[in-house]
Amino acid sequence: MKTNKKITLLSGDGIGPEVSKEAEKLLTVIEDQFNYKIDIEKKDFGGIAIDNHGVPLPEDTLKTCQKSDAVLLAAIGGPKYDNLPREKRPESGLLGLRAGLNAFANLRPVMVFDSLLDSSTIKKEMLQGTDLLVVRELTGGVYFGKPKGIEVRNNERVGFNNMIYTESEIKRIAKVAFEIARKRKKKVTSIDKANVLDVSQLWRDVVIETSKNYSDVTLEHLYIDNAAMQLIRNPRQFDVMLAENLFGDILSDEAAMLTGSIGMLPSASLGDGKYPAIYEPVHGSAPDIAGKNLANPIAMTLSIAMMFKYSFNDEKVHDAIFNSVKKVLNAGYRTKDIYEEGKDGVTPSLLGTKEMGDLICKNLFLPYLRFSSI
Ligand code: NAD
Repeated sequence: MKTNKKITLLSGDGIGPEVSKEAEKLLTVIEDQFNYKIDIEKKDFGGIAIDNHGVPLPEDTLKTCQKSDAVLLAAIGGPKYDNLPREKRPESGLLGLRAGLNAFANLRPVMVFDSLLDSSTIKKEMLQGTDLLVVRELTGGVYFGKPKGIEVRNNERVGFNNMIYTESEIKRIAKVAFEIARKRKKKVTSIDKANVLDVSQLWRDVVIETSKNYSDVTLEHLYIDNAAMQLIRNPRQFDVMLAENLFGDILSDEAAMLTGSIGMLPSASLGDGKYPAIYEPVHGSAPDIAGKNLANPIAMTLSIAMMFKYSFNDEKVHDAIFNSVKKVLNAGYRTKDIYEEGKDGVTPSLLGTKEMGDLICKNLFLPYLRFSSI
């Protein structure tokens, strides 16, 4: 019997529709090879939704997402919308979507493929074997805290935001980190600034309390400034890095540099199970290369791998996708963002978005190897 899944696909803007096309192709191959029946419902979101409906997140889009098994989002935004008021821009739709699905746990795996060691600006001896996961709290902290604003006090403007967390918010994200660490290398590094910030002290206290239920997982703490340094100095030391919203935002972009291209990085945003999770590449809509068949579809491809692992509990499909990407990269195929001419006497083959997508579909095979990274 086939397993039925309903996926809402939000292609969005810029390179979004291009990488979404490759995602649809891949999902069709997965249906065939792994006995799934996958219904894909496409909805407007971001700039395209502003064009067609006047708002970045139409009610119908959110409702459809809420009723699906998983949401696959490509990328949104673009220069056309940059001058709109903040609340009307495509990016404000992202906050609405995360809030509407209660997606509080953002997972960003950072895995360095051996075949791409030369693509990073960091020395390859330091990178080899890096396999870490940033778990970022996504719906709290300074991005959402109140009061916030800019006002005039004593004849000058004052800007302020509030980094605020409740005990339960910290506890639920810490639990996610510990649960995932249990299935990986069993180590959590919690990031804070407890030497200065009260909210960080609470963060540290609650993480320590939560860790009591996970005695098989090693817990360590790092201040955010040291963590930023350690991530470049020796990324291999990390397994799961747990951070609040702002710190996690910055650290995960820093970690992205380890892999060589933002076009390689998938992500998942998980909630409490009431609503489906969101899977999306870390990159934006890349207006500079949109419509040119230049976008790397691998971040989107690996986001689908994460979807099968975290939402559909299917490690076989996850591993098959991951293996296919690895095989294609090992064989020397590259999109432009990860192309390095003539390194180690081997000249890679340059592919467009569509051709890379085709090859990944073609190489989706069994048997598979196990990877812990995404
Ligand atoms: P970006 O990620 O779109 O692009 C940054 C650089 O990386 C560009 O040079 C781009 O060509 C390149 N790049 C990105 N994805 C790539 C891929 N798959 N393959 C090859 N190269 C790739 O970031 P930006 O330029 O700062 O933002 C562009 C637009 O995207 C803005 O409107 C921004 O607000 C939006 N954005 C959206 C999201 C999202 O949808 N979640 C995330 C970040 C930025």
